[in-house]
Formats: sequence, structure tokens, C-alpha cells
Amino acid sequence: MVLVSEHEALLASLRWQIAMGADEAILEAPVVRAIPAPVAQKQPVPKPSAPTPLRKATPHGEAASALAAGADTLEALRAAMAAFTGSPLRETATNLVFSDGVAGAATMVIGEAPGAEEDRVGKPFVGASGQLLDRMFASIGLSRASNLYITNILPFRPPGNRTPTDAEIALFLPFVLRHIHLARPRCLVLAGGVAAKGLLQSRDGVTRLRGRWHQVSILGDEVLIALPTLHPAYLLRNPLAKRDAWADLLMLHRHINDGGIGADG
Ligand code: URA
Repeated sequence: MVLVSEHEALLASLRWQIAMGADEAILEAPVVRAIPAPVAQKQPVPKPSAPTPLRKATPHGEAASALAAGADTLEALRAAMAAFTGSPLRETATNLVFSDGVAGAATMVIGEAPGAEEDRVGKPFVGASGQLLDRMFASIGLSRASNLYITNILPFRPPGNRTPTDAEIALFLPFVLRHIHLARPRCLVLAGGVAAKGLLQSRDGVTRLRGRWHQVSILGDEVLIALPTLHPAYLLRNPLAKRDAWADLLMLHRHINDGGIGADG
């Protein structure tokens, strides 16, 4: 299946190679930049393991669960999250950052938390890492303008862009699960360790989890497949890791083509 016109695909691929550093001499020693050839056979997806909650239930957690469960549309969910007073992050943030892209798209990306730029604009991934994320997905024919939906684990910026705590991840998880349920994607991409930890309920780091499909229990019997990958902000700091992110993207691209879920959802 052709996802984008040949011209656009070539441009996207060129942009990706530049993002990978093909036009830069960044190390003294030569680096092999060969992209691994796609593996033909499908990998088995392990069954979801019984989730081990990162934190025990708290009154604020119960309030979050009740508010999330009462939201029947994405707009209602956004309003419920805006009304939720159980997190101090709300007081220091400028905006609630809910989502961007096409709700209902087959592929939904879950990031970590808004940064300064996202907090100012009120949309996820609009800063430097968002630009890299856009280039990465464009290289496999996905864009937030047509066939990609994006949100974060936390809807509010942690002060100073610190990493979200386990308690914050657990507190907002009912909203994230409801968000996924209402957006109805066919697969998830978990960008970075926070999204992987929150949705896979795993203590393993994203470098151990990435590169294979996992199953995630959403609500009730609802199960989705999820691909953890490296966060674009990490890739900006560690350009050599872009090779692994590229392998993950190829895996997603193969899944979209082989599984026939369609890029448009
Ligand atoms: N990093 C994220 O994880 N999400 C954003 O929205 C921006 C940066």
C-alpha cells in the first residue's frame, strides 16, 4: 500500500536521514549508520501480565477514576480533567494539554508530559522534540494533520520539566485509559519511559521494553497492542539512538501494512 506520494515519501526519508545525522560528522570514529533490514516474520505478542499498580488507591485517585468514568466523549473528558483539583500540577501549569491530531486515527502516541512550549500553547509535542516526532512519523506516512492522534500521560507541565513521579503517573492513569477508550485507536506508540511505565505497569526501562509489541489492558476486556519506543527528547540528546527508534518505526509501519489497519484508521 502506498501511504504518501513517492515525492513526499522521498522527502520524508531524506529529512529522517538528516535527523539521523547523515549530514554531520559528530564523532571521531566512524559510525555504522546502516538501517537494519525489516524482519519478515511477525513476532508473537505476549499476553498482558496482571498489572501491578505503581501506587495504592488514594482519595484523589478515586476522584480521578470517577470523573474519567463519567466522561462519554473526548470533550467531556477534557472538561472532567480541567475540573479535577486533585493535583498541584494544575496550579503551576498555564494550560491543560489534552491532545492534538485526529481523534479516531488508528495510531495513538502517548508521550510523557508537556514542556514549556506545550504548556504555553496548550498542545502536546510542539517544541523541539515535537518537531523530531513529526519528522519520524512523516517518514512512515503518519501525521497529526491526517492519521495520527497524540496525548501525554500528564496533562499538566511538571515545574521545571522534571520527570513525573510514580504517584503523578498513577493519579492521571484513569484519564489516560479513558482517553484511549474514547479515541478508539487500533494501536499505541508509547514514547519514552514514563508512557511505557504507566501503561505497561513495568519497572523495566524503555530501552528494555522497546522493539517489541506488548498488550495493554485498557478498560474491562479491552486490550490494545502497544509499541514502546525512545522519547524524541532522548533522541535529541543521543543521536546514535535514532537507529533504534527507526527500527521501531519500521515495526509500526509493517504492522499498519500487514495488519491492514490502514494509516487513516
Ligand atoms: N514531551 C512529551 O512527552 N510530551 C510533550 O507534549 C512534549 C514533550
